Amino acid sequence: MRYAEGMPNPAPSLPPPENEAACAKQAMAFLERYRIVATPENYAVWFHYAAGKNKELAREVDNIVSNSLQFTPETCTYLYNKYVLGNRQQKMLDEAAMGGQKVLMEVLRVINEFSGETQSYNKGIDQYMNHIDREFQDESVKKIFKELIEVTSTMKQSGEKITRKLEESTQEITSLKKNLQQVTTEAQRDFLTGAFNRKSFEQFTDEQMLAAKASGKDLCLLMIDIDHFKTFNDRFGHLLGDEVLKTVARTLTELLKGRDTVARFGGEEFVVVLPETPIEGAMKVADMIRTAIAGKELKRKDTGEHFGTITISAGVARFRPDSDTLPTLIKRADDALYQSKRHGRNRVTREAGE
Ligand code: GH3
Ligand code: MG
Ligand code: MG
Repeated sequence: MRYAEGMPNPAPSLPPPENEAACAKQAMAFLERYRIVATPENYAVWFHYAAGKNKELAREVDNIVSNSLQFTPETCTYLYNKYVLGNRQQKMLDEAAMGGQKVLMEVLRVINEFSGETQSYNKGIDQYMNHIDREFQDESVKKIFKELIEVTSTMKQSGEKITRKLEESTQEITSLKKNLQQVTTEAQRDFLTGAFNRKSFEQFTDEQMLAAKASGKDLCLLMIDIDHFKTFNDRFGHLLGDEVLKTVARTLTELLKGRDTVARFGGEEFVVVLPETPIEGAMKVADMIRTAIAGKELKRKDTGEHFGTITISAGVARFRPDSDTLPTLIKRADDALYQSKRHGRNRVTREAGE
């Protein structure tokens, strides 16, 4: 699946300071050459392009230029979101956690060193103490040494306490970071099937539509709906119905490794986004999905009891860069799906006019 790896893009790193002035100058020249409004966002994109560190940004911009496409406001926004904003949030989080850990590690090192030194200091004092016992009869000198040892030992204990506290804090930072990552991932997923949820589907597809506009490549959308699923639930119960939904999501995900995205659109409906795919290819993918699901014998894992098979119907639509918004694209795929249902189900229909 593409979403997990595809969505966050590394934020471009800054050029070495000695090049900053040159990059800034070049960025302004680019803005002028391509007649792009000099907003801070656009400037940032071209600054990073001039810095030349982000190969993907360079490839995408060069592609637009060599295809004589325009840097429309939409394309500019797309480039800014993808390459400047990127996963800056995640990067900041990582940096903050790393920074915190680094500081703690350094403090731990100093304290360990200190407690090691304290130990050898204690030993030294013990030896002198024996010596003093033998050589000096003066109780007041002995008393001073004893007090010195006590103070040192208290210092040592405090040092050890701080070390423990710091170790705990280090672990806390690590687990907080892990939790945060988990929460971010969970927020993108559908609770039951683990497929992407509607919200992340919408975000991702909006991005993909802008990418398709910028590159001039086709983008297709499949709407998939399980046939007669209400009957299945009525016959075998909702819990088994849930298992079927999971099986369908798993089958889709396994079939569509790579750049494609599977999301649960709602209920027993799934949506698949196929970037850089012409409609003929998308029809083939949809039919491959249909055949795979129809060929799956459903059975209970624990008892091996069989429940027969299920089928799906699908509708396929191609993104129209000049006029489509996400709702209009979804609507055409949905209309095509409706035609599949009308003509008997377990089939795939291409949108009208394609
Ligand atoms: P069609 O072939 O026309 O699509 O028929 P259908 O029965 O699949 O469609 P309908 O819209 O009449 O019913 C959809 C059913 O999907 C209703 C509901 O029982 C089931 N469903 C939706 N969400 C879930 C879910 O999360 N779990 C389970 N088990 N069933 C669900
Ligand atoms: Mg439905
Ligand atoms: Mg259905």
